[in-house]
Amino acid sequence: MADRYYVDQPIAFEPGGATRVTLAGSEAHHLIHVMRATVGTSVTLFDGSGAEFPAEVQLVGRAEIELAVLQRDEVDRELARYVTLAVALPKGDRQRWLVEKAVELGMTKLIPLATTRSVAQPVRHVLDRLRRAVVEASKQCGRNRLMRIAEPIDLPALIAATREEPHRWLAHPGFSDGTEEHPLPMPGARVFMAVGPEGGFTAEEVALAAAAGWQPIHLGSRILRTETAALAMAVLASR
Ligand code: SAH
Repeated sequence: MADRYYVDQPIAFEPGGATRVTLAGSEAHHLIHVMRATVGTSVTLFDGSGAEFPAEVQLVGRAEIELAVLQRDEVDRELARYVTLAVALPKGDRQRWLVEKAVELGMTKLIPLATTRSVAQPVRHVLDRLRRAVVEASKQCGRNRLMRIAEPIDLPALIAATREEPHRWLAHPGFSDGTEEHPLPMPGARVFMAVGPEGGFTAEEVALAAAAGWQPIHLGSRILRTETAALAMAVLASR
């Protein structure tokens, strides 16, 4: 896979036309100063719309770089289902790690989940940082659609908003021996998954979700950290 660069504006590709894109900021910095691009260097651009664009460097400035877009290729590296992972985010580096892996495993959307035992909710600059992590992971893994990071919501709001959804899975230790099968919904279906904080969901939260029709999911007989449980859930839905 050629080196991939993210363009934060939709690329309006005209077949046969001279579509140009100017990269600035960290993407340009990387291409100019780390990759030492010169006129003619080939890269792949993506704009998060689902396509990717082979392109060639035309002009190298000090902080900006101009590229000619050669082609628009629809390259779908998405899952067969739309998977939303609502998770009580862990702290610090583990947060970024979780976002990176959720992108790699094809999650459609990540919702920071506020629960009774959650640690503090991410503030604006943290959400911005996590959205940048989404771009970095997408560059690396070849995804042409960005995983969305939604604004944080609390568990009752998530339950209310998904009441009509047929596929809702809540990770909670101790429901069963973990050997049951979790049949996959049809391609095109939406799946919602909830994972609790280090302190776990409270009995009231589990009861509230179960009463609303969430299916409890047991991931084995060990207690997993939030981010491990989130990835194990992601794998269940990404087969
Ligand atoms: N102290 C809590 C564990 C929290 S682990 C307790 O004993 O209940 C953090 C979250 O990861 C949990 O809320 C749950 O959503 C998920 N999780 C961890 N281990 C799990 C397992 N074995 N099965 C299902 N979910 C699990």
